[in-house]
Amino acid sequence: MGVGEHRNYRFVADAMLKNLVSWLRILGYDTIYWSGDDKEVLSVAEVENRIILTMDRGLAATAARKGFKVLLFYENDVSSILARMSHELGLSLSFDPKFTRCPICNHPLNLERRSDREEWMCPGCGKKYWKGSHWRNINRTLEEARKRLTNTSR
Ligand SMILES: [Zn+2]
Repeated sequence: MGVGEHRNYRFVADAMLKNLVSWLRILGYDTIYWSGDDKEVLSVAEVENRIILTMDRGLAATAARKGFKVLLFYENDVSSILARMSHELGLSLSFDPKFTRCPICNHPLNLERRSDREEWMCPGCGKKYWKGSHWRNINRTLEEARKRLTNTSR
């Protein structure tokens, strides 16, 4: 499966999965989180054509009954969630510098190549990003997710 083929997926995550949201944005997926009631989550999912990500069994059951695409998670563990999303949806687990979004505001980032490093500028909130020391942690989590994926598809 090629990188980027599935980046047209869009997600709405419930408030319990808030930390997952920035990961999906970094991987280039249009993702929002929603802290309103179930009805609001369903309406956002419908209007904006988003897949629902939740840890709430009740919401997952209602959504599935109404024909929504929904993934229910039992633990808030980023690498295992990403592995499962990759397994079930073909979610890309590789960072693509050209298709990444602002972890804070979800706006697609503009890649600016400097002489010494790559930088990303967010036209939405004005924030600038580069691969700093936190990058090692990001790579480690993605690595872990890829490892788990290999184990599940075996
Ligand atoms: Zn931003």
